[in-house]
Amino acid sequence: MTPTEKIWYNGELISWHDAKIHVLSHVVSYGSSVFEGLRTYDTINGSAIFRLREHMRRLIDSAKIYRMEIPYTLDQLCNAALEITQVSGLSSCYIRPIAFRGYGQIGVFGVKNPIEVYIACWEWGKYLGDDALADGVDVCISSWNRIAPNTLPALSKAGGNYLNSQLIRMEADVNGYAEGIALDQQGYVSEGSGENIFVVRDGKLLTPPLGASVLPGITRDSVLQIAKYLNLPVVETIIPRELLYIADEVFFTGTAAEITPIRSVDRVTVGEGRRGPITERLQKEFFGVLNGSLPDQWDWLTPVEARKLEEAKA
Ligand code: PMP
Repeated sequence: MTPTEKIWYNGELISWHDAKIHVLSHVVSYGSSVFEGLRTYDTINGSAIFRLREHMRRLIDSAKIYRMEIPYTLDQLCNAALEITQVSGLSSCYIRPIAFRGYGQIGVFGVKNPIEVYIACWEWGKYLGDDALADGVDVCISSWNRIAPNTLPALSKAGGNYLNSQLIRMEADVNGYAEGIALDQQGYVSEGSGENIFVVRDGKLLTPPLGASVLPGITRDSVLQIAKYLNLPVVETIIPRELLYIADEVFFTGTAAEITPIRSVDRVTVGEGRRGPITERLQKEFFGVLNGSLPDQWDWLTPVEARKLEEAKA
């Protein structure tokens, strides 16, 4: 990670290297953070943040599930992300807002501890490798299940959930795969350690429903919108593991992974073993909007430069 100069912290801009916390902050022992990951794209019309409001809304939702009140409005959080991006001078970057229970009382019951909010951004490349978007990746089914309903809430993008993601990702890596796919408590396909998943069979798109312990992915939602526009039938339905093996196409979606084809699952070749035509069609529309060559018909982009810094402080 290449540091930038500043990080937004509770309404102020502080030096990147001063963004530190006490080791006894509640979050360190108990995982009590919620966070987001967004991207700023360098479009031909200038730099723009992808689905800023939806990400910040999910941050507030994630916090609400954990009874954490973020002391900023949706508008203030959006402005803060724009401010830190603008100050960074980066035309394309990754943005990480994070809110957590800070230093105060020690013990699992941390409701009196202050809620700290930081937003950082930095330059970032392709998550699953530069060739992944065109060639696809080799993945496995994880021996770890996804977090079960009524244990850790999957609809909250909480730091603690990523212990499960880490187990999935590390196991995949040890066994020579780019990523692992977790099954849910019932044994149906849930999602990757940091991506939602789609299956294509006979021209129809399938993706697990929110009840399959998935994060409500913003890229997932974007693909659902594109598919509707392209008149591709989509169903949110439970997916048995073996459907991945006999699918025509499988792909991941996520802020980091964008739309990444999957060319094999458990060393079983998916379709032709390379990016399929529907995946490519969806990518074309998605990246067309993100680079500005196609109209932003769903209002996904918030320009960074147009914003005045004064507004962010309001
Ligand atoms: N699932 C998990 C577990 C994730 O961490 C992510 C990345 N935020 C996703 C799915 C994809 O979500 P999004 O498209 O909003 O990045």
